Amino acid sequence: MKFTHTLTVPAAAALALFAAPAAADTTIIHAESVIKDAGSEPTGRATVTVTDGRIVSIEDGWSEVPEGATMIHLEGKTVMPGMIDLHTHLTGDPGGDFWKEATEPDDWGVVVGAKNARLTALAGFTTVREAGSAQHTAFSLRRGTAEGLIPGPRIVAAGPALAIVGGHGDVSGFRPEINELLDSGYTCTGAVECAEKVRLASQNGADTIKITATGGVLSQQGRGLEAHFTFDEMKSIADTADTLGLKVMAHAHGARGIEMAAKAGIDTIEHGTYIDEQAAEAMVENGTVLVPTLMAFQGISERLGKGIYTPVVEEKVRAVAETARVFMGKARDWGVTIAFGTDAGVFDHGRNAQELSLMMQQGMTAREALAAATTGAAEVLDMTNEIGRIAPGYSADIIAFDGNPLTDITVLEDVDFVMVRGRVIE
Ligand SMILES: [Zn+2]
Repeated sequence: MKFTHTLTVPAAAALALFAAPAAADTTIIHAESVIKDAGSEPTGRATVTVTDGRIVSIEDGWSEVPEGATMIHLEGKTVMPGMIDLHTHLTGDPGGDFWKEATEPDDWGVVVGAKNARLTALAGFTTVREAGSAQHTAFSLRRGTAEGLIPGPRIVAAGPALAIVGGHGDVSGFRPEINELLDSGYTCTGAVECAEKVRLASQNGADTIKITATGGVLSQQGRGLEAHFTFDEMKSIADTADTLGLKVMAHAHGARGIEMAAKAGIDTIEHGTYIDEQAAEAMVENGTVLVPTLMAFQGISERLGKGIYTPVVEEKVRAVAETARVFMGKARDWGVTIAFGTDAGVFDHGRNAQELSLMMQQGMTAREALAAATTGAAEVLDMTNEIGRIAPGYSADIIAFDGNPLTDITVLEDVDFVMVRGRVIE
């Protein structure tokens, strides 16, 4: 392994000697209007210049195309920064057959993920946070889209989620020896072991740490939706991640689990279904952000009563449906910061932008929803200088569509043009 690795570097260098001197790769985009960020009004006709994957300038009117530059003429289209989904599972498609975990190799997740990465990008999402996937599958996808080998968004990946033994995120529902065989290696008990698993995730390539702080809806475990990790375990995970410069995202449904995670210093609460005022207060005090994944609830309720889910899951889905229609609005009223994430994979990939309407149904303005999916999400990722705006120096993550999302958010469900890091997605 090491031998072939040392060979590739001189080989690449030798090739470069014979290649033409690197001319800057420039693309000129003519847009009918540009929404530079969620706080701005659409401009009139404008030209966006992209060089080597970065935005160089935004100028009024349609400028001439310099020799050697590529021109993309988007007459009639509105141009906006690409959207960011903080909660996807690219390596999986919706399905109720939990036993597939025992029949499908991890590699299959990369194949499925390559298909979904393209669909996600075409839907206008130029960055996603992979919120839990088998072993190194998301890391392979991350490299694939970064190097342009497969079309797709920039991927910030958690890798396997940390879970309690037998809890949501661990395997459950099989006979003991099968559970044991399918163990991801990322369950932990006690502060020391949990710290170790954060370090293991970091060692293996995680950009962020995902934990399942409470029970979940779609797993076979029927142990409720409250806190499953102890406070000491969550605190150890948050503190250890912090020393490594990693943020922690916690799947959490029950109010006391949300409160505990916020107090332990976890950065984002995923789902947050049963949030109450006390939990919201803890989130506000600790600067914890809510990623409500309303599409997850939408997706799973569409699949109810079709014999897709096992009885234990079906029961949990029905119990959660009513609350799912109101909890984000309550959190917003209590002053919790909300960022965009969908849980794509629980529903079909490519429908991500439908989350925006669901957020508005719970009280957000179009501008707030747009910010949640651009600048707000970029802040969660510590990437505010890189993504979420059309501005000089930013990554050329650009989408185009008909209409104005500030007056009709659903125009974002039909995106016509997508560029990720300067590459057009086809
Ligand atoms: Zn999820």
